[in-house]
Amino acid sequence: CGIVAYIGSREAYPIILKGLQRLEYRGYDSAGVALLDKELKIYKKKGKVSELESSLIGQHLPAKSGIGHTRWATHGEPSDRNAHPHCSPSGKLAMVHNGIIENFAPIKKELQKKGYVFKSDTDTEVLLVFIEDIFINDAESLEAAVRIALKRIIGAYVIILLDESQPDTLIAARKGSPLVIGIGPNEHFLASDASPIIEYTKEVVYINDYEMAIVKPDELVLKNPGNERITPFITKLDMDL
Ligand code: GLU
Repeated sequence: CGIVAYIGSREAYPIILKGLQRLEYRGYDSAGVALLDKELKIYKKKGKVSELESSLIGQHLPAKSGIGHTRWATHGEPSDRNAHPHCSPSGKLAMVHNGIIENFAPIKKELQKKGYVFKSDTDTEVLLVFIEDIFINDAESLEAAVRIALKRIIGAYVIILLDESQPDTLIAARKGSPLVIGIGPNEHFLASDASPIIEYTKEVVYINDYEMAIVKPDELVLKNPGNERITPFITKLDMDL
């Protein structure tokens, strides 16, 4: 129900954790974070953000990029295993998703026929496995795989992907669910609304439906489904904390 992500030169975890707490008002049943520091690590828990936080006390988490999520379950009961981020079959991709993939069932069947085994009951994992399958077999890049997969998807979503083999890039896309990107010096903040971002920067870009964002610490590229670049429209936030 809420998404926060960071890529830049600071430690991602405290920024994401605080951001998830700011999004708590939206309601949720589980929380989780994926952090990329050479290796991709996922930590997720049913319950409150504070429970995720206590489970990670004392851990050294120096990653400079990460994605976080609070979940409001639509497909699959609230549980650790159904919490986001989800991890792809290869273990190299992590994804968070807000919204619903309405046509997940036929796609899941197709993937099961190919031999994929699912670790959760969510619609989200189906989209992630679908993206990775396209990435491995039919696409020249993860970005292209996401573009191809989303053309088959019916539903509402914001997704953000973290790829172990591209540590300096986050890939995000939206249709029907909100996504804001905050721009800082050599860093970017992504969130469901501006409340997790406002403390760090006032310059934001509201992502529109059907837009995809390829986000690096020092670069924000927006594209349409035809793979054409869109100029980001930067808005100045005038609210205070
Ligand atoms: N449909 C997804 C799930 O049930 C995401 C729900 C949400 O927006 O939090 O896991």
